[in-house]
Formats: sequence, structure tokens, C-alpha cells
Amino acid sequence: MRRLETRKTSWLKKILLLLFICLLPVLLVSPRSMTAKMLKDSANGTKVMVLNYHKIDNMNISLSVLPKDFEAQMAYLKENNFHAITPEELYSALSGNSELPENPVLITFDDGYEDNYVNAYPILKKYGFKGTIFVITSFLDKSMKNYITWDQAAEMDASGVISIQSHTVTHRSMTELSDDQLRRELVDSKEAIETHLHKKVNFIAYPTGTYNLHIAQLVKEAGYEGAFTIKYGNVDKASNLYALERVPVFHTENTFKSFLERIQYIPIFERLGWIKS
Ligand SMILES: [Zn+2]
Repeated sequence: MRRLETRKTSWLKKILLLLFICLLPVLLVSPRSMTAKMLKDSANGTKVMVLNYHKIDNMNISLSVLPKDFEAQMAYLKENNFHAITPEELYSALSGNSELPENPVLITFDDGYEDNYVNAYPILKKYGFKGTIFVITSFLDKSMKNYITWDQAAEMDASGVISIQSHTVTHRSMTELSDDQLRRELVDSKEAIETHLHKKVNFIAYPTGTYNLHIAQLVKEAGYEGAFTIKYGNVDKASNLYALERVPVFHTENTFKSFLERIQYIPIFERLGWIKS
């Protein structure tokens, strides 16, 4: 009995020590910065879900969400009172210049596949949603098969349903490029879209999601207001404008179930601190 007590006490000591070590950073922070942090947390405001799609067609690969599944997802968002916003609206709200609608969602597509024009665009129109397509500008210049053309890009952008933004010129992984190459990817893709569509381009999505702080700085210098990653999570005022979180949507065994799990579990992941650290 006594030995058991001793063992219990020693376990208790270990647990207390562990707790102390875990809480040490918190104890070391001054009360003032604690208050600042708490204020910042409470001021992070509305969370914005940024969905990330690639292809919307009937290919049996994870990057291809079937048109019928995409439509079911849009119907779900409509029924659940989601409001689709543009990257400009997101930026304006994050900068404190405007309010977001209830349940804001940004629906994005990477690479600029032709099926976005053929399949996603009509479905978005049907549900009264807006979307954003990040295009690889050299693919449009060369009229590459399976990618949208400049005419299709212009038509969608002018309709107000789709906002065309940059996904660089060549889609090479940015962490493998020199600064000069990076600047060309950032500046030339922006200028190409601006010239073809007669509008300002302020947003980019990193090809393959790879970036670092130096690249983010070059993105800012090239005149962009924000950049999207494939870091999993929701965007709020605590987000880095040049490393905005998204929620990738894939074709799976049960695409709709995976979609629901993805969009419902983000708050839990965030609470556990797995996202923004
Ligand atoms: Zn891509």
C-alpha cells in the first residue's frame, strides 16, 4: 500500500513537472502582451473558407471532382446559406475596410483547365456563386489543349462570375527558381492577364503550394495584395496575406462525405493549433 502511494506521488510529481514545462512559455509572457494577444484573438473576426479545386470533369483521378459532385457541393453551400466572395472582397475585409457576408466562401480553381469553363462555370452561374481561377499564363498564350483560352478567360471574367488571377507563367515550383526567374513569373503573368482582360490582377496562387518568406516578399514587391497556399485551414485576420490558407477538395471514394469532413473539421484542427503555427 505504501509503495503504491509512493508510486502515485512520483507520478503526480512527474505530471506536475510536465505541466509546469508546458505552461512555462505562458507564465513568462508579460500580462500586457497576454492582453494584446487575447484582444488580437477576439478581433480575428469572421473565418473565411477558401475551397481549392483543380479539374471539374469525369476523369477518375483525385484532382478531378465530377461535375455532379461539384454541383452537389454547390447545392450544399447554397442550402447552408454560404455566400461566395471574390479575393478583392476578402482583402477588403481583412484590411478592415468592409464587412463580409454571413458564411463567406471563396471558391478557387488552380491551373485554368478547360473543364472549369465547360463544367464549373455554368454550375456556379446556376447557384449564383462567384469563383476565382488561377491561370498559368504561358499555357493560354500557347493555346494548350485542355486549358482555357484567353477568349474564355475574358468571357468568364467579364461576366462577373469568375475572377481570373495568376498562377505564374510556367507553373514551376517557386522554391527552385532564382530571384530573377521569380520576378519574371510574378510580374509577367500579372501583366499578361492585365493586358488581355483589361483589369488589375492582385492575387496569385503558388504553384504546387510551395513558397517561403523570401518568395512572399517578392510577391508583395511585384504588386500583389495576397497569395494563396495549400496550407490547410480557414482565413481570418490572423492570416498572413501572402500565405492564405485553403481547403483542398478532391475526388475520393465518397467525394461528398470527404467534402463535408473537410469543411466541418477545420475549426477543430485550428483550435488544436495545427494550422497557423
Ligand atoms: Zn497548380
